[in-house]
Amino acid sequence: MPTGLLISMSTIPPNQSIATKTLNEALERSEKALHELKIQKLALDHHAIVSMTDPQGRITYANERFCAITKYSQRELIGKDHCIINSGHHSKEFFLDLWRTITSGKVWQGEICNRTKDGKQYWVQSTIVPLPELDGKLQGYISIRTDITKRKLLEEQNLFAMKELECSNRELDAFAYIASHDLKEPLRGIHNYSQFLLEDYSALLDDEGCDKLETLKRLAQRMDDLIGTLLRFSRVGRTKLDLSPVNIGDLARETCNALQAAIDEAGAQVEVAADLPDVVCDPVLAGQIFQNLIANAIKYRGRDSGQVEVGWDGDPWRPVFHVRDDGIGIREKDFKSIFRIFKRLHGQDKYGGGLGAGLTFARKIVEHHGGRIWVESQSSEGSIFYFTLS
Ligand code: ADP
Repeated sequence: MPTGLLISMSTIPPNQSIATKTLNEALERSEKALHELKIQKLALDHHAIVSMTDPQGRITYANERFCAITKYSQRELIGKDHCIINSGHHSKEFFLDLWRTITSGKVWQGEICNRTKDGKQYWVQSTIVPLPELDGKLQGYISIRTDITKRKLLEEQNLFAMKELECSNRELDAFAYIASHDLKEPLRGIHNYSQFLLEDYSALLDDEGCDKLETLKRLAQRMDDLIGTLLRFSRVGRTKLDLSPVNIGDLARETCNALQAAIDEAGAQVEVAADLPDVVCDPVLAGQIFQNLIANAIKYRGRDSGQVEVGWDGDPWRPVFHVRDDGIGIREKDFKSIFRIFKRLHGQDKYGGGLGAGLTFARKIVEHHGGRIWVESQSSEGSIFYFTLS
């Protein structure tokens, strides 16, 4: 404490000594408060970009960080208003709203894009506080900001990438739809003409010729199935979700009922947990996820297996569902590829055939809901398919 400020007791008459003591104490307190304020200002200057203005918005103070980010010197800034760093990014209404707020004595908070002396844009998270005098009149404003340029850049990049992805997904879906539609007609012609040939000319062909025509018909049918799958696949991404609260236990049990014949034929058993929670989803599409996962769990069972379990864990607000089987399992190197369209790990003659699209459908439906699907498995050790719907 600077003792020079204190009034010496020996120089004052005794009747004034009490008042003097009180005055000294008050002085001491204000010195202490001033010291604390200086420390707080130091800390603030280390952390934030700070400036102060008069009631008209003319800069009266700018700290070092302000000068560093704007590339203006204090001399260039003092007396100017914040137009000097206006980037032109925001509308007139934006600044009108800001002024309306602070001139009515309220604090304004928001993100502002500014411009440096050499024309570069930067973003700050800003808090502007009106500073009232002791008599209540406005003394000016203090602005405290933090640099959020990196975060904004990342946000912009993410948004751009998301938009590009959405756009290319839409284009791909539209392409798959149009191409499949156009391919269906000539394909049906090939199928029908092989049938006509078989019906009208089989007497002129030997057995090998007839077999070849049968193969042609079968291949045309398979291609028709694949194209139909592509069409349905592109439709999933293009249609809006019909959302409602759904009890996932009921949905899984309904799916089991629909698959009962296949379950019985395989001698399999599917157990659905009693406490599966409700989620908001498209019930028809979500049902197809269970349909594909449970059908696969039965289809890819081993010789002595066939136990399937549908359950969940995690947070009730964001449950992770699973379909677990004790079947043939999947090697880790195939975890990604099995979700690709028409990818199969086995030939048509094994495990009852298939188009290799069930998991791709499940993935597309899950992603359409904003969720994720993945698998954990080991060869011969069974598999667990996990998914979320948000
Ligand atoms: P599909 O069953 O018609 O072949 P899917 O897209 O449903 O098509 O599955 C892709 C591949 O992933 C299957 O061919 C199979 O090799 C493997 N697969 C899927 N589910 C399982 C499972 N539960 N256990 C073992 N392998 C599986």
